[in-house]
Amino acid sequence: MIIGSHVSISGGLIGAAKEAHSYGANTFMVYTGAPQNSVRKPLDKLKIDEGRSFMDENGIKSFVVHAPYIINLASYKDDTFNAAVEILENEIYRTIAFGSNILILHPGSFTDKDAHYGIDRIASGLNKVLKDDMDITICLETMAGKGSEIGRSFEELKAITDKVNLNNKIGICFDTCHVHDSGYDIVNDLDGVIADFDRIIGLDRLKVFHLNGSLNPRGARKDRHANIGAEDDNPKGKDHIGFECIYKIAHHPASKNKPLILETPWLDNKTNLYKQEIALIKNGKEG
Ligand code: FE
Ligand code: FE
Ligand code: ZN
Repeated sequence: MIIGSHVSISGGLIGAAKEAHSYGANTFMVYTGAPQNSVRKPLDKLKIDEGRSFMDENGIKSFVVHAPYIINLASYKDDTFNAAVEILENEIYRTIAFGSNILILHPGSFTDKDAHYGIDRIASGLNKVLKDDMDITICLETMAGKGSEIGRSFEELKAITDKVNLNNKIGICFDTCHVHDSGYDIVNDLDGVIADFDRIIGLDRLKVFHLNGSLNPRGARKDRHANIGAEDDNPKGKDHIGFECIYKIAHHPASKNKPLILETPWLDNKTNLYKQEIALIKNGKEG
């Protein structure tokens, strides 16, 4: 199983790899700078070579990168759209320079327009950015559907993919919290949801999973992550997806040899449950 969590890039790639190793992970996810903006440290300050050798020595074979949230390729505002194209292009080069070829992207929000407009705009942005010689897979993330987010259904993700010329470079990141929040019943009918994904998009596009609980019932469109299997006594709140479902996904043929990334909440500034959650997902409750 290839499993890890989101880790911080503030100590460079070496810091990220060490943090992942401390959780017992064999993969991880980073942003190449703060998730909320496009201010980026130059690559030569990010200890990439040290990070790569630490990874080699510690059995971390690969990792994935998440693009910043400010990218909105669905925006009808030209300045927002053009900035999104520019930032995304830069993130692709940074991802490749880091030594990864998976970049996870929130498709975008159509705000005052409609889904049809959003889908076309996102695809046109991707068509501006993607070049034949780029060794990258942009993984469009399944979204919860809060506000005007595109990517709340498999059909929307398929529609974007179909409109991208170089769509051999398009994959999907399956976020369990988001898929549940957008209305899919992964808790009671996981195989049905996976079969829908396969029928609509094709499982060959599925490259990464985000394993998260959800603080809300199915279909709530909230996008608030819970710790895996959290009960009422968890300070962040109860998980409505539950451990059994996440365990099933992690041990499902559809997730085999794909990075499984936790984005579960920290309990406070110093405490997260990544190490425990990783062990639990790997070994089950009995250990
Ligand atoms: Fe995301
Ligand atoms: Fe996610
Ligand atoms: Zn989320």
